[in-house]
Amino acid sequence: MSNEIPSKETSRGTIVHYGACRYCGQHHSFEGIIDMTEEEKITKATSMCDCEEAIGETKRLEGVELAKKNVDKLLGKYAFAELLKPFAEELAKFHLDSLTVKVGNVTASMSYKDGKIIVKKKVTDESTLEA
Ligand SMILES: [Zn+2]
Repeated sequence: MSNEIPSKETSRGTIVHYGACRYCGQHHSFEGIIDMTEEEKITKATSMCDCEEAIGETKRLEGVELAKKNVDKLLGKYAFAELLKPFAEELAKFHLDSLTVKVGNVTASMSYKDGKIIVKKKVTDESTLEA
């Protein structure tokens, strides 16, 4: 970025960074670790901005974080739960309808509806007896 303001060191070993909002370009200052990447600075500045697009992104990211926690709550004991988490972001970003993963007798799905990410688990318990 051309009009970048240099970072300043603070007394506590962190640094005051300046970042521009991804959407409106407004600058925001915040303390952070010294080697923050440009993308991290932009994300942080955007999360502090109060323009409409930035608020939309902040809400979306909060929803994604909550959805990841819900995956842990519902599916934490299954190894495939970790696989499902990154898709929370894709669902919210691209407004995908749903994503379903089936492992053994467990069906896990994530869907996007009215701005919310819904995590669902279904365990089928089928018994067969043969004589
Ligand atoms: Zn903004």
